[in-house]
Amino acid sequence: GSTIGILGGGQLGRMLSVAASRLGYKSHIFEPGANPPAGQVADQVTTAAYEDEAALKAFADAVDVITYEFENIPTSALDILEAHRPIRPGREALRVSQDRITEKDFLTGLGLKTAPYAQIDTAEDLAKAMTEIGTPSILKTRRFGYDGKGQVRLSEDSDPAVAMEEVAGAASVLEGFVNFSHEVSVIAARGTTGEVACYDPGENVHEGGILRTTTVPARLPGSMRMDAVLIASQILNALDYVGVMGVELFVTLEGLIVNEIAPRVHNSGHWTQNGCAVDQFEQHIRAVVGLPLGDGKRHNDVVMENLIGEDMDRVPHLLKEPHVAVHLYGKADVKAGRKMGHVNRVTPAG
Ligand code: ATP
Ligand code: MG
Ligand code: MG
Repeated sequence: GSTIGILGGGQLGRMLSVAASRLGYKSHIFEPGANPPAGQVADQVTTAAYEDEAALKAFADAVDVITYEFENIPTSALDILEAHRPIRPGREALRVSQDRITEKDFLTGLGLKTAPYAQIDTAEDLAKAMTEIGTPSILKTRRFGYDGKGQVRLSEDSDPAVAMEEVAGAASVLEGFVNFSHEVSVIAARGTTGEVACYDPGENVHEGGILRTTTVPARLPGSMRMDAVLIASQILNALDYVGVMGVELFVTLEGLIVNEIAPRVHNSGHWTQNGCAVDQFEQHIRAVVGLPLGDGKRHNDVVMENLIGEDMDRVPHLLKEPHVAVHLYGKADVKAGRKMGHVNRVTPAG
Protein backbone atom coordinates (compact mmCIF):
# COMPACT_ATOMS: atom_id res chain seq x y z
CA GLY A 1 0.00 0.00 0.00
CA SER A 2 1.04 3.60 -0.32
CA THR A 3 -0.97 5.55 2.28
CA ILE A 4 -0.50 5.05 6.00
CA GLY A 5 -3.34 6.03 8.31
CA ILE A 6 -2.20 7.36 11.68
CA LEU A 7 -4.57 7.72 14.63
CA GLY A 8 -3.48 10.75 16.65
CA GLY A 9 -1.95 13.99 15.46
CA GLY A 10 0.55 14.85 18.20
CA GLN A 11 4.32 15.00 17.91
CA LEU A 12 4.64 11.22 17.58
CA GLY A 13 2.18 11.20 14.68
CA ARG A 14 4.08 14.10 13.18
CA MET A 15 7.43 12.32 13.29
CA LEU A 16 5.82 9.14 11.93
CA SER A 17 4.45 11.18 9.01
CA VAL A 18 7.90 12.56 8.25
CA ALA A 19 9.39 9.06 8.29
CA ALA A 20 6.60 7.74 6.05
CA SER A 21 7.22 10.56 3.59
CA ARG A 22 10.97 9.81 3.52
CA LEU A 23 10.18 6.23 2.49
CA GLY A 24 7.87 7.43 -0.27
CA TYR A 25 4.54 6.84 1.49
CA LYS A 26 1.70 9.23 2.04
CA SER A 27 0.21 9.74 5.50
CA HIS A 28 -3.31 10.49 6.59
CA ILE A 29 -3.90 11.65 10.17
CA PHE A 30 -7.13 11.06 12.11
CA GLU A 31 -7.36 13.50 15.02
CA PRO A 32 -10.34 14.91 16.92
CA GLY A 33 -8.51 18.07 18.08
CA ALA A 34 -8.05 21.16 15.92
CA ASN A 35 -4.65 22.11 14.41
CA PRO A 36 -2.74 18.96 15.31
CA PRO A 37 1.09 19.16 15.12
CA ALA A 38 1.07 16.22 12.69
CA GLY A 39 -1.36 18.04 10.42
CA GLN A 40 1.41 20.42 9.33
CA VAL A 41 3.40 17.60 7.71
CA ALA A 42 0.85 14.93 6.79
CA ASP A 43 -0.63 14.62 3.30
CA GLN A 44 -4.17 14.57 4.65
CA VAL A 45 -5.95 15.19 7.95
CA THR A 46 -9.39 14.08 9.09
CA THR A 47 -10.64 16.10 12.03
CA ALA A 48 -13.47 14.06 13.50
CA ALA A 49 -14.52 12.40 16.73
CA TYR A 50 -13.86 8.72 17.42
CA GLU A 51 -17.66 8.36 17.67
CA ASP A 52 -18.12 9.52 14.07
CA GLU A 53 -18.71 6.23 12.29
CA ALA A 54 -18.92 7.70 8.80
CA ALA A 55 -15.66 9.60 9.27
CA LEU A 56 -13.90 6.48 10.55
CA LYS A 57 -15.09 4.43 7.57
CA ALA A 58 -14.04 7.12 5.08
CA PHE A 59 -10.63 7.35 6.76
CA ALA A 60 -10.13 3.59 6.66
CA ASP A 61 -11.17 3.43 2.99
CA ALA A 62 -8.63 6.14 2.14
CA VAL A 63 -5.62 4.32 3.64
CA ASP A 64 -3.89 0.96 3.20
CA VAL A 65 -2.85 0.22 6.77
CA ILE A 66 -3.70 1.89 10.09
CA THR A 67 -1.32 2.60 12.95
CA TYR A 68 -1.48 4.90 15.96
CA GLU A 69 0.57 7.22 18.15
CA PHE A 70 -1.30 6.58 21.40
CA GLU A 71 -2.95 3.57 23.00
CA ASN A 72 -6.24 5.00 24.25
CA ILE A 73 -8.28 4.68 21.09
CA PRO A 74 -11.88 3.72 21.95
CA THR A 75 -12.66 0.04 21.30
CA SER A 76 -15.79 0.95 19.29
CA ALA A 77 -13.67 2.98 16.86
CA LEU A 78 -11.13 0.16 16.54
CA ASP A 79 -13.92 -2.30 15.70
CA ILE A 80 -15.10 -0.09 12.83
CA LEU A 81 -11.59 0.55 11.51
CA GLU A 82 -10.50 -3.07 11.74
CA ALA A 83 -13.45 -4.21 9.64
CA HIS A 84 -11.92 -2.21 6.75
CA ARG A 85 -8.14 -2.23 7.11
CA PRO A 86 -5.41 -3.94 9.14
CA ILE A 87 -4.46 -2.19 12.39
CA ARG A 88 -0.79 -2.54 13.33
CA PRO A 89 0.28 -3.10 16.06
CA GLY A 90 -2.73 -5.38 16.54
CA ARG A 91 -5.69 -5.29 18.89
CA GLU A 92 -4.15 -7.55 21.53
CA ALA A 93 -1.37 -5.03 22.21
CA LEU A 94 -3.99 -2.32 22.68
CA ARG A 95 -6.23 -4.44 24.87
CA VAL A 96 -3.32 -5.30 27.14
CA SER A 97 -1.83 -1.81 27.40
CA GLN A 98 -5.01 0.26 27.75
CA ASP A 99 -5.42 -0.86 31.35
CA ARG A 100 -2.60 -1.00 33.92
CA ILE A 101 -4.04 -4.12 35.59
CA THR A 102 -4.53 -6.06 32.35
CA GLU A 103 -0.99 -5.05 31.43
CA LYS A 104 0.53 -6.19 34.72
CA ASP A 105 -1.46 -9.46 34.62
CA PHE A 106 -0.08 -10.05 31.12
CA LEU A 107 3.52 -9.28 32.15
CA THR A 108 3.47 -11.41 35.29
CA GLY A 109 1.79 -14.16 33.21
CA LEU A 110 4.93 -14.17 31.06
CA GLY A 111 6.98 -14.67 34.23
CA LEU A 112 8.30 -11.10 34.18
CA LYS A 113 8.72 -9.05 37.35
CA THR A 114 6.54 -5.99 38.01
CA ALA A 115 5.96 -3.88 41.11
CA PRO A 116 3.58 -5.61 43.55
CA TYR A 117 0.08 -4.41 42.64
CA ALA A 118 -3.55 -4.61 43.67
CA GLN A 119 -6.84 -3.61 42.07
CA ILE A 120 -8.47 -0.64 43.80
CA ASP A 121 -12.11 0.37 43.34
CA THR A 122 -12.96 1.81 46.75
CA ALA A 123 -11.30 3.47 49.75
CA GLU A 124 -11.78 0.15 51.60
CA ASP A 125 -9.84 -1.69 48.89
CA LEU A 126 -7.11 0.91 49.22
CA ALA A 127 -6.91 0.70 53.01
CA LYS A 128 -6.53 -3.08 52.75
CA ALA A 129 -3.96 -2.89 49.94
CA MET A 130 -1.93 -0.26 51.82
CA THR A 131 -1.36 -2.78 54.59
CA GLU A 132 -0.72 -5.70 52.23
CA ILE A 133 1.55 -3.94 49.73
CA GLY A 134 2.76 -1.39 52.24
CA THR A 135 3.99 2.15 51.82
CA PRO A 136 5.51 4.05 50.16
CA SER A 137 3.32 3.12 47.23
CA ILE A 138 1.69 4.79 44.24
CA LEU A 139 -2.00 4.88 43.38
CA LYS A 140 -2.51 5.09 39.60
CA THR A 141 -5.70 5.22 37.57
CA ARG A 142 -5.99 2.06 35.48
CA ARG A 143 -6.67 3.98 32.28
CA PHE A 144 -5.65 7.17 30.46
CA GLY A 145 -2.66 8.16 32.63
CA TYR A 146 0.46 9.68 31.03
CA ASP A 147 3.29 12.00 32.13
CA GLY A 148 2.54 10.99 35.74
CA LYS A 149 -1.06 12.28 35.53
CA GLY A 150 -3.66 10.35 37.53
CA GLN A 151 -1.07 9.26 40.11
CA VAL A 152 -0.93 9.82 43.86
CA ARG A 153 2.09 8.94 46.00
CA LEU A 154 1.15 7.41 49.33
CA SER A 155 3.09 7.32 52.58
CA GLU A 156 2.21 5.44 55.75
CA ASP A 157 -0.04 8.24 57.06
CA SER A 158 -1.90 8.91 53.79
CA ASP A 159 -5.69 8.79 54.14
CA PRO A 160 -7.19 6.24 51.71
CA ALA A 161 -10.40 8.27 51.32
CA VAL A 162 -8.47 11.42 50.39
CA ALA A 163 -6.28 9.48 47.96
CA MET A 164 -9.39 8.05 46.26
CA GLU A 165 -10.76 11.58 45.90
CA GLU A 166 -7.51 12.64 44.25
CA VAL A 167 -8.08 10.05 41.50
CA ALA A 168 -11.75 11.11 41.37
CA GLY A 169 -12.85 7.65 42.49
CA ALA A 170 -11.55 6.11 39.25
CA ALA A 171 -10.81 2.39 38.94
CA SER A 172 -7.16 2.26 39.98
CA VAL A 173 -4.18 0.13 40.85
CA LEU A 174 -1.95 0.41 43.91
CA GLU A 175 1.71 -0.25 43.11
CA GLY A 176 4.38 -0.87 45.67
CA PHE A 177 7.20 1.67 45.37
CA VAL A 178 10.14 0.09 43.57
CA ASN A 179 13.47 1.02 45.10
CA PHE A 180 15.30 1.38 41.79
CA SER A 181 18.79 2.75 41.23
CA HIS A 182 17.79 4.11 37.83
CA GLU A 183 15.34 3.67 34.96
CA VAL A 184 16.01 2.38 31.46
CA SER A 185 13.88 1.62 28.45
CA VAL A 186 14.20 -0.59 25.43
CA ILE A 187 12.75 0.49 22.12
CA ALA A 188 12.03 -2.73 20.27
CA ALA A 189 10.59 -3.48 16.85
CA ARG A 190 9.03 -6.58 15.33
CA GLY A 191 8.28 -7.03 11.64
CA THR A 192 5.46 -8.86 9.86
CA THR A 193 7.72 -11.91 9.44
CA GLY A 194 8.47 -12.05 13.17
CA GLU A 195 12.00 -10.63 13.09
CA VAL A 196 12.84 -8.56 16.20
CA ALA A 197 15.30 -5.68 16.44
CA CYS A 198 16.05 -3.79 19.65
CA TYR A 199 17.75 -0.44 20.05
CA ASP A 200 20.43 -0.02 22.67
CA PRO A 201 18.73 0.58 26.07
CA GLY A 202 18.47 4.24 27.10
CA GLU A 203 18.67 5.59 30.65
CA ASN A 204 15.73 7.79 31.58
CA VAL A 205 15.45 10.60 34.11
CA HIS A 206 11.98 11.83 35.02
CA GLU A 207 11.05 15.12 36.69
CA GLY A 208 7.61 15.53 38.17
CA GLY A 209 6.47 12.36 36.37
CA ILE A 210 7.58 13.70 32.95
CA LEU A 211 10.53 12.33 31.00
CA ARG A 212 13.36 14.87 31.19
CA THR A 213 16.34 13.14 29.55
CA THR A 214 17.31 9.86 27.91
CA THR A 215 21.00 8.97 27.76
CA VAL A 216 22.62 6.27 25.64
CA PRO A 217 24.47 4.18 26.48
CA ALA A 218 22.59 3.46 29.74
CA ARG A 219 24.48 2.36 32.81
CA LEU A 220 23.85 -1.38 32.69
CA PRO A 221 26.07 -4.39 33.30
CA GLY A 222 26.31 -6.69 30.28
CA SER A 223 24.01 -9.34 31.76
CA MET A 224 21.23 -6.80 32.37
CA ARG A 225 21.70 -5.33 28.90
CA MET A 226 21.01 -8.83 27.60
CA ASP A 227 18.04 -9.26 29.98
CA ALA A 228 16.50 -5.98 28.85
CA VAL A 229 16.56 -7.07 25.23
CA LEU A 230 15.26 -10.56 26.06
CA ILE A 231 12.37 -9.13 28.10
CA ALA A 232 11.38 -6.81 25.24
CA SER A 233 11.60 -9.63 22.69
CA GLN A 234 9.51 -11.93 24.86
CA ILE A 235 6.77 -9.29 25.14
CA LEU A 236 6.71 -8.61 21.40
CA ASN A 237 6.60 -12.28 20.49
CA ALA A 238 3.84 -13.02 23.02
CA LEU A 239 1.68 -10.32 21.42
CA ASP A 240 2.55 -11.36 17.85
CA TYR A 241 3.42 -7.68 17.66
CA VAL A 242 4.07 -5.66 14.51
CA GLY A 243 5.65 -2.23 14.99
CA VAL A 244 7.76 -0.40 17.56
CA MET A 245 7.17 -0.68 21.30
CA GLY A 246 8.65 1.14 24.30
CA VAL A 247 9.38 -1.03 27.35
CA GLU A 248 10.13 0.90 30.56
CA LEU A 249 12.25 -0.91 33.13
CA PHE A 250 13.44 -0.25 36.67
CA VAL A 251 17.02 -1.30 37.47
CA THR A 252 17.23 -2.87 40.94
CA LEU A 253 19.62 -5.10 42.89
CA GLU A 254 17.18 -7.96 42.20
CA GLY A 255 17.34 -7.37 38.45
CA LEU A 256 15.05 -5.63 35.98
CA ILE A 257 11.44 -4.87 36.85
CA VAL A 258 8.99 -3.91 34.10
CA ASN A 259 7.29 -0.57 34.83
CA GLU A 260 5.05 -0.30 31.77
CA ILE A 261 4.88 -0.88 28.05
CA ALA A 262 3.72 1.49 25.30
CA PRO A 263 2.56 -0.08 22.00
CA ARG A 264 3.97 2.72 19.85
CA VAL A 265 6.98 4.87 19.22
CA HIS A 266 8.18 6.27 22.54
CA ASN A 267 9.60 9.54 23.84
CA SER A 268 12.61 7.68 25.26
CA GLY A 269 13.42 6.55 21.70
CA HIS A 270 13.82 10.03 20.23
CA TRP A 271 17.60 9.72 20.59
CA THR A 272 17.56 7.24 17.68
CA GLN A 273 16.93 10.14 15.28
CA ASN A 274 20.55 11.20 15.66
CA GLY A 275 22.12 8.02 16.97
CA CYS A 276 21.19 5.40 14.38
CA ALA A 277 20.96 5.04 10.61
CA VAL A 278 17.29 4.04 10.95
CA ASP A 279 15.40 5.77 13.76
CA GLN A 280 12.37 4.44 15.68
CA PHE A 281 9.90 6.30 13.46
CA GLU A 282 11.23 4.83 10.22
CA GLN A 283 11.49 1.44 11.93
CA HIS A 284 7.82 1.61 12.91
CA ILE A 285 6.74 2.58 9.38
CA ARG A 286 8.88 -0.22 7.91
CA ALA A 287 7.27 -2.72 10.27
CA VAL A 288 3.64 -1.71 9.69
CA VAL A 289 3.96 -1.69 5.89
CA GLY A 290 5.80 -5.03 5.87
CA LEU A 291 9.25 -3.83 4.81
CA PRO A 292 12.36 -5.43 6.32
CA LEU A 293 13.45 -3.81 9.59
CA GLY A 294 16.32 -1.35 9.23
CA ASP A 295 19.72 -0.95 10.85
CA GLY A 296 19.13 0.34 14.38
CA LYS A 297 22.70 -0.02 15.58
CA ARG A 298 23.84 2.97 17.64
CA HIS A 299 26.71 4.91 16.05
CA ASN A 300 26.97 7.74 18.60
CA ASP A 301 26.48 8.49 22.25
CA VAL A 302 23.40 10.69 22.62
CA VAL A 303 21.66 12.66 25.36
CA MET A 304 18.06 13.48 24.46
CA GLU A 305 16.51 16.33 26.43
CA ASN A 306 12.82 17.20 26.22
CA LEU A 307 11.92 20.86 25.74
CA ILE A 308 8.97 21.32 28.08
CA GLY A 309 6.97 24.54 28.38
CA GLU A 310 9.29 27.51 29.02
CA ASP A 311 12.32 25.48 27.89
CA MET A 312 11.37 26.92 24.50
CA ASP A 313 13.09 30.16 25.60
CA ARG A 314 16.41 28.28 25.26
CA VAL A 315 15.89 27.41 21.60
CA PRO A 316 17.78 30.44 20.14
CA HIS A 317 20.81 29.41 22.19
CA LEU A 318 20.43 25.68 21.46
CA LEU A 319 20.34 26.40 17.74
CA LYS A 320 23.91 27.75 18.00
CA GLU A 321 25.36 24.86 20.02
CA PRO A 322 27.66 22.38 18.29
CA HIS A 323 26.65 18.69 18.08
CA VAL A 324 23.03 19.52 18.94
CA ALA A 325 20.07 18.55 16.77
CA VAL A 326 16.92 20.55 17.56
CA HIS A 327 13.52 18.93 16.92
CA LEU A 328 10.45 21.15 17.34
CA TYR A 329 6.81 20.04 17.13
CA GLY A 330 5.26 23.24 15.76
CA LYS A 331 2.88 23.66 18.71
CA ALA A 332 1.48 27.18 18.73
CA ASP A 333 0.97 27.82 22.44
CA VAL A 334 3.55 27.15 25.11
CA LYS A 335 2.02 25.63 28.26
CA ALA A 336 3.70 24.50 31.48
CA GLY A 337 4.32 20.74 31.33
CA ARG A 338 3.66 20.60 27.57
CA LYS A 339 6.21 18.80 25.41
CA MET A 340 7.22 21.38 22.78
CA GLY A 341 10.26 19.68 21.25
CA HIS A 342 13.48 17.92 22.12
CA VAL A 343 17.18 18.14 21.44
CA ASN A 344 19.66 15.36 20.79
CA ARG A 345 23.19 16.12 21.99
CA VAL A 346 25.51 13.88 20.08
CA THR A 347 29.03 12.84 21.05
CA PRO A 348 30.88 12.12 17.83
CA ALA A 349 32.46 8.68 17.99
CA GLY A 350 36.25 8.54 18.27
P1 ATP B 1 4.40 7.87 30.74
O1 ATP B 1 4.38 9.30 30.30
O2 ATP B 1 5.78 7.25 30.77
O3 ATP B 1 3.37 6.99 30.10
P2 ATP B 1 2.87 7.39 33.17
O4 ATP B 1 1.98 8.50 33.56
O5 ATP B 1 2.29 6.18 32.55
O6 ATP B 1 4.07 7.97 32.31
P3 ATP B 1 4.54 5.81 34.93
O7 ATP B 1 5.53 5.40 33.91
O8 ATP B 1 3.67 4.78 35.52
O9 ATP B 1 3.65 7.03 34.48
O10 ATP B 1 5.30 6.55 36.12
C1 ATP B 1 6.06 7.71 35.87
C2 ATP B 1 7.33 7.65 36.67
O11 ATP B 1 7.01 7.58 38.07
C3 ATP B 1 8.17 6.41 36.40
O12 ATP B 1 8.96 6.55 35.24
C4 ATP B 1 8.96 6.34 37.69
O13 ATP B 1 9.97 7.33 37.72
C5 ATP B 1 7.91 6.69 38.72
N1 ATP B 1 7.21 5.47 39.16
C6 ATP B 1 6.08 4.96 38.62
N2 ATP B 1 5.70 3.81 39.23
C7 ATP B 1 6.62 3.58 40.18
C8 ATP B 1 6.80 2.55 41.17
N3 ATP B 1 5.93 1.52 41.31
N4 ATP B 1 7.89 2.63 41.98
C9 ATP B 1 8.76 3.67 41.88
N5 ATP B 1 8.63 4.67 40.98
C10 ATP B 1 7.59 4.64 40.15
MG1 MG C 1 2.51 5.37 30.71
MG1 MG D 1 6.03 5.65 32.03
